[in-house]
Amino acid sequence: MIGFTTTIPLEILVAAGRRPADLNNLFITAPDPQSLIEEAEVAGFPRNICGWIKGLYGTVIRHGISEVIAVTEGDCSNTQALMEVLTLHGVKTIPFAYPYDRSHESLALEIHKLARHFGVSRDQIEEARDRLDRLRRKIHEIDRLSWQENRVSGEENHLFQVCTSDMKGDLAGFEDEIDAFLAQARQRAPLAETLRLAYIGVPPIITDLYARLEEMEARVVFNETQRQFSMPYPCADIEEQYRRYTYPYDIFTRLDDIEEQIALRRIDGVIHYVQSFCFRQIEDLIVRKRLKLPVLTLEGDRPGPLDARSRIRIEGFLEMLKARKP
Ligand code: SF4
Repeated sequence: MIGFTTTIPLEILVAAGRRPADLNNLFITAPDPQSLIEEAEVAGFPRNICGWIKGLYGTVIRHGISEVIAVTEGDCSNTQALMEVLTLHGVKTIPFAYPYDRSHESLALEIHKLARHFGVSRDQIEEARDRLDRLRRKIHEIDRLSWQENRVSGEENHLFQVCTSDMKGDLAGFEDEIDAFLAQARQRAPLAETLRLAYIGVPPIITDLYARLEEMEARVVFNETQRQFSMPYPCADIEEQYRRYTYPYDIFTRLDDIEEQIALRRIDGVIHYVQSFCFRQIEDLIVRKRLKLPVLTLEGDRPGPLDARSRIRIEGFLEMLKARKP
């Protein structure tokens, strides 16, 4: 098993025959994610460091993962220190960087270095890309069924898309799961919620957010980052694919995609999720300035259910959205 700290060119691991594991997915789906954070704090991670970083550390140690690809540019400013701590524990770390300027040349060099490390050729990568794209197209259909036919819940949309970063480490098994879900979802009667929401920002550490929203008659029909993990654009080559993937680049690139999808999916309001102690919180002020729709900024810290204060804020936000509807 090879771990990684955020989405990387998965094609390379698949071409190399290695089992991919997105550490974020392993962490948040653990039976006791809270204890992984506590283990990191016992090891010396400060209280005021993001829960995801501590969860990733705890996950690597608990699973005895010996090799990790660490995305040092384009994701998290804390990853470099995490990499150093893991090195101290004897974990082999392989750096990968998304160039801030989105230059094709720099990204091609990063992809080349990673491919060389795993000993895979260009042809093998393209073959893996074809295989992965087959699954991705099915995930795009789940997304379409969410916003266009209203047959998929916000949580189902979130879970299937978020898993595309590592395809659950088992392409064939995940594809069977997708096929079974699609067959069942297509038969469902359309959902009829009052409000349609966009969820933007990193995936939530709050475990029951989508279910609580649906209890309040609001369904998420656009999960921004999770959709990006599924590589939603058809591209001629792998460099173009990871250049168009918006998450690792500037907020304005992300906002272009968000605005386009908000219009397409007939969104009533936006939840901007921010993680406690995350540098991306600063971008909230740009999001609020740029988006024309009402935005609720929701902060999460540790894994667990929605807290009472956040619930009350969401209720107020949804009431306001309902009052605005014609
Ligand atoms: S939420 Fe922010 S601080 Fe935490 S791992 Fe992600 S980018 Fe880093």
